[in-house]
Amino acid sequence: MAHIAMLPSPGMGHLIPMAEFAKRLVHHHNFTVTFIIPADAPPSSAYNKVLTSLPSSIDHIVLPLVDLSDAPPNSRIETLISLTVARSLPSLRDALLASSKKPLALLVDLFGTDAFDPAIDLGIPPYIFFPSTAMTLSLFFYMPELHRSVSCEYRDMTDLVRIPGCVPIRGSDLLDPVQDRKDDAYKWVIHHSSRYPMAHGVIENSFAELGPGPLKFLQSRNPPVYAVGPLIKMDYELDASGSDIIAWLDHQPSSSVLFVSFGSGGTLTFDQLTELAHGLESSQQRFLWVVRSPNRIPNGTYFTVQSQKDPLAYLPQGFLERTKGRGLVVPNWAPQAQILSHGSTGGFMSHCGWNSILESVVHGVPIIAWPLYAEQKMNAIIVTEEVKVALRPPGVGERLVERVEVATVAKALMEGEEGKRVRNRMKVLKEAAARAIGDDGASTKAIAELAQKWRNSSTGI
Ligand code: UDP
Repeated sequence: MAHIAMLPSPGMGHLIPMAEFAKRLVHHHNFTVTFIIPADAPPSSAYNKVLTSLPSSIDHIVLPLVDLSDAPPNSRIETLISLTVARSLPSLRDALLASSKKPLALLVDLFGTDAFDPAIDLGIPPYIFFPSTAMTLSLFFYMPELHRSVSCEYRDMTDLVRIPGCVPIRGSDLLDPVQDRKDDAYKWVIHHSSRYPMAHGVIENSFAELGPGPLKFLQSRNPPVYAVGPLIKMDYELDASGSDIIAWLDHQPSSSVLFVSFGSGGTLTFDQLTELAHGLESSQQRFLWVVRSPNRIPNGTYFTVQSQKDPLAYLPQGFLERTKGRGLVVPNWAPQAQILSHGSTGGFMSHCGWNSILESVVHGVPIIAWPLYAEQKMNAIIVTEEVKVALRPPGVGERLVERVEVATVAKALMEGEEGKRVRNRMKVLKEAAARAIGDDGASTKAIAELAQKWRNSSTGI
């Protein structure tokens, strides 16, 4: 039986789409898959839940934990992920050698290219599974050239950055880890991006209608890029608090609820949390808000998911009582996929993590873009300016967004004319997404093509 190994980096947003891709290979092409997981701490319970709920043809190994205690305390996520992978290479090699079936390919995600070396040594072709936009993928291929041709910080550039195949964007909108050239995270991005051409192929979790320019550009050159999206998780098991949330939604009118959530790690400052609360309250919209304790760092809980203190304690005094019935506040985590697929959900205020955007597109829920970290500003440009399925409050990412601005954008999306236009465009995009992953769809065909390529490689064709 054809066998593939996959190396996801820490973070739910990396594991979930890779797991969905693995399921397609198993269910539609009779593959077996092993997840090989590099980590510096035992995987969180949410991470384990995803792993243990996979079909029996997908197994997993957690590699011996690496020690990151020498990393400076303010190291960025990209540095920690890269170090975790780099320090796991000997045990990765052992795991690949110990496998009873030699994998036909090793898939790594965006900061995992150091794993190419043991794979190549063992004659296993390396591939990249890219869980973000085609625009960001195009930037990764372009990054070494951009690095050579620009000497200042990108945010200080007077010209727009022209990523091949993409609308020109401001340097300040490029992903976070390239915003400080002295930081280790920047060096890691340059390191990984210069190794991208070594991949035998790139698997991109998107589809043509969600970024035609960069995909067309990327598909005109090597390595081949396979657009296989939108791959999203559909079959979450509900725990008790999840069931309560869905029961609450069941009692709300159709398309009336604004879902507010900032991904698996997004946090706001205390001042921003306060403005958001007052804005939601005065908007008079129904809302379902996943609240995290405030933090100065926008991705403050990325590795741990749980905030340290009770997040509800930070809400303005009396907020819960005043919004009772119309609003539901949930601490830390909620079953996002089910919420977005629920008929009562009519809008999504989102940090624009790529999985969140794909989930919104699949379920046809228009977005309020509130990018916080990583490549989310670039993702926000795609949904607001390119495919125009999102509104964006002024000042997000640059300054405090005031309560009146929150209320205005919430009302505009949920009941304004602009919101109607955005909602209609999202409907068209939802249909395109369904076609792409349908039986004869482009993404389904791309996965079949890859599966065939891997099978042929095993028989020497
Ligand atoms: N997610 C969830 N409940 C939450 C927060 C996040 O189920 O309360 C899921 C969400 O549905 C998505 C993933 O976690 O599948 C987050 O991925 P994304 O790329 O949107 O953002 P990240 O968390 O990686 O920044």
